[in-house]
Amino acid sequence: MSTKTHGMNVDRYNELRRILEERRDEIAGEVKEKIRHVRTEATQTTTHRIADAGETSESDIQDDIEFALIQMKTETLNKIGSALARLEERTYGYCYECGDEIAEQRLRALPFAARCKDCEEIRESELDRERVLESRSKAVLLFGVSSA
Ligand SMILES: [Zn+2]
Repeated sequence: MSTKTHGMNVDRYNELRRILEERRDEIAGEVKEKIRHVRTEATQTTTHRIADAGETSESDIQDDIEFALIQMKTETLNKIGSALARLEERTYGYCYECGDEIAEQRLRALPFAARCKDCEEIRESELDRERVLESRSKAVLLFGVSSA
C-alpha cells in the first residue's frame, strides 16, 4: 500500500484532518454553550422584563451580540466543513499562488490560509504598495484639482 495519496503524505493528511476536526469540535462546543446561555438569559430577561422594563434594551443589545457571535461561529463551522471536504479531495492545504504545501504550523494558526507564508508576505507588500499608490492618486485628485 502506498503511503502517498495524490501527492499528499498520509501523515500530513491525518495531521490536517486532526487540526480541522479539533477546531470544529471546539467551536461546536462553544456554539452549544452560547445557545444554552442565550436561552437561559432569555428566560431570565422575560421574568426581568415584567419587573423592570427599563433594562430591556440593554439585555436586548447583549442578546444581539450573543447571536452575532453564534452566527460568526456557525459560519466558521461551515468553512471547516468545506475545508474537510477539500481535504478529502486532497485540495486543502496547498498555496493558492505557488501550489506548494502550506506548513502545518501555519494551518494550525490559520486553518483557512489560502497562501503559504512566502506568498502571503509578497502579497502583503504588494497590497501595501497599492495602498500607497492609491493614497497618492487620491492626494493628486484632492489637491491637484484645487490648484488647477
Ligand atoms: Zn505559495
